[in-house]
Amino acid sequence: MKVIELKGLKKTYYLEKIDVPVLHGIDLEVEQGEFVAIMGHSGSGKSTLLNIIGLLDKPSEGSFKLAGIEVSKYSDDELASLRNQYLGFIFQQFHLLPKLTALENVHLPVIYSNSKDESHHENPEKLLKLVGLEDRMDHRPNELSGGQQQRVAVARSLVNKPLIIFADEPTGNLDTKSTKEIIKMLRDLNDSGITIVMVTHEPDLTAYATRTIKLQDGVIISDEKTRPADAGKDKRGAQELKHKVFSASRIKDYFAEALRALAGNKMRSILSILGVMIGVASLIAMLAVGTGAQKAIQDQVSSLGSNLLTVSPGATQRGGISSEAGSRMRLYYTDIADLKRRVPGISGIAGYASGRVQAVANGKNYNTRMDGVSIDYFSIRNSFPSSGRVFTSQEDTEKQKLVLIGETVRQNLFPDGRDVIGEYIKINRIDFQIIGILPVKGSSGYRDEDDKVVIPLNTALNRVFGTENLSNMDVQVKDGADMGEVSDAIISRLLITHRQTDRESVRVRNMAEIQETMSSMANAFSLLLGSIAFISLLVGGIGIMNIMFVSVSERTKEIGLRKAIGANNADILFQFIIESIFVCSAGGLIGIVAGSGGAVLVSKIAGWTTSITPFSVILAFCFSALTGLVFGVWPARKASLLDPIDALRHD
Ligand code: ADP
Ligand code: MG
Repeated sequence: MKVIELKGLKKTYYLEKIDVPVLHGIDLEVEQGEFVAIMGHSGSGKSTLLNIIGLLDKPSEGSFKLAGIEVSKYSDDELASLRNQYLGFIFQQFHLLPKLTALENVHLPVIYSNSKDESHHENPEKLLKLVGLEDRMDHRPNELSGGQQQRVAVARSLVNKPLIIFADEPTGNLDTKSTKEIIKMLRDLNDSGITIVMVTHEPDLTAYATRTIKLQDGVIISDEKTRPADAGKDKRGAQELKHKVFSASRIKDYFAEALRALAGNKMRSILSILGVMIGVASLIAMLAVGTGAQKAIQDQVSSLGSNLLTVSPGATQRGGISSEAGSRMRLYYTDIADLKRRVPGISGIAGYASGRVQAVANGKNYNTRMDGVSIDYFSIRNSFPSSGRVFTSQEDTEKQKLVLIGETVRQNLFPDGRDVIGEYIKINRIDFQIIGILPVKGSSGYRDEDDKVVIPLNTALNRVFGTENLSNMDVQVKDGADMGEVSDAIISRLLITHRQTDRESVRVRNMAEIQETMSSMANAFSLLLGSIAFISLLVGGIGIMNIMFVSVSERTKEIGLRKAIGANNADILFQFIIESIFVCSAGGLIGIVAGSGGAVLVSKIAGWTTSITPFSVILAFCFSALTGLVFGVWPARKASLLDPIDALRHD
């Protein structure tokens, strides 16, 4: 069987400015079982010819049949499969992958073969024994001599049971002793039926071949058979080429290769992971803070109820110009009863007079907020004391010095935790009797709701603040009543009783509006934080892309070798993308942990509410994996599109 048939084969390199014709019409037939030595001066086109018949390069012109099949009709991927299944390569520079052990190097072509079935390939350990390296299996190439490295390469070329072995000056970098060993091995392989095509410029070696071809300036000038060749036993033909099938085991292999590559460059991998980690950690932490703020606002606002109107004196300034004195309405105690009587749709009104006060008790001094409140306060704010009682409206009218204290105030003034109902505290030097403890409301995100005291409104106005003016009022609207109508009616009524005309002198705000404003603010806040985090992830991603490009160009030779032994474009693409996705996902996972830790820390230190939702965790993880994909695709594509022979020649 003719394994190689060349007719009028030409090769011209088309450079930018000039064309370099290298092969000028080669006619050559090689029978199965031959051992062909190609001789010739340097630059005569030997390697070019070998690369073409080894399917690493393509001819410019002419016909080439491999094992009876015209190969010009094959696609790149099919050529890769052909190389993997039928051809073995031995290079002058050995081309072993430096990070892999001898055994792993020998095994490499199996990864790219269609069948992992034992019967379709040789056992790598057996092959290493065959080349006399049984005690060097776990050594890396840099721990082996040149001769040993080339023996590993010979073992590698055999692992997929090749029909033909191509060797380009396999002994060019070896000493005399190693040269003998290698050429002896090739001879033995030929004796066992494998066709061998070897380029050499050492005339001695032609003695091992069955045929010697001399090349000069791209033409064959002599062709002599030196001894008879055994017809090979291998009866496979290229027609039997099987297409690569995609299987799950392949993903496993890509993954293993990606892991190996990353482990081979630990520092770089760790830094890349760190970059993504920071991005993801900030994404998680920012989302936690943002959603936490939103939740805190929602909780606070919903605790107030959406059927509340707040009435407060209007703005003293309008349009940047100060209004005339008196245009700002004052709210009086009597307005509470008046509005309740005259405006329909109101179920309760709480008037307030608030300010900071100094509370002294038990030898302790504590600054807190005081709310003077009218009696409806307790029902409107759902703030009935957890122990003790509320004051009565009569006690309010009589300006009695009674106080309900919040939990934070109690803890600060009475840290011993004793029952303090009935005891006295001084508020701004006035003695007040404690009649109740306010229910615990907790922190509202930025303010401790338990850090306050509550006293009757009249007492606050007359005894503490010495004023007639309320700070503001909460108006609770009856179920079913229209908020807008009630709000208008309140303003109209107040204008009448206060003999004023300017509707802007009093401000009535709807809780639902406040709720909306606050949540839209919180949304904007989250969005801002989220975009900062997104940008840092983007930066991490670009870092990954940069590193991947560096990695591709550093590993160009490796890519060339992988392609030479049968990896197709998809194999290389996947390997690099998986590498990038792996780095990003690892960074993502660590980032999620770090970000969550950061969020917990923020809530501990700053007292902010933070909230880590499963959604934000999944989002962050998917985002990091996606970053790996998006920023890995371009470099991976560049790697996959490399031409095998260009990549191998790269230095
Ligand atoms: P040999 O192996 O016989 O020493 P080669 O086949 O490597 O020779 O090269 C033959 C000729 O082709 C040389 O003149 C070389 O400069 C040229 N050549 C080889 N590869 C390329 C290339 N990629 N681009 C341009 N010219 C090339
Ligand atoms: Mg050469």
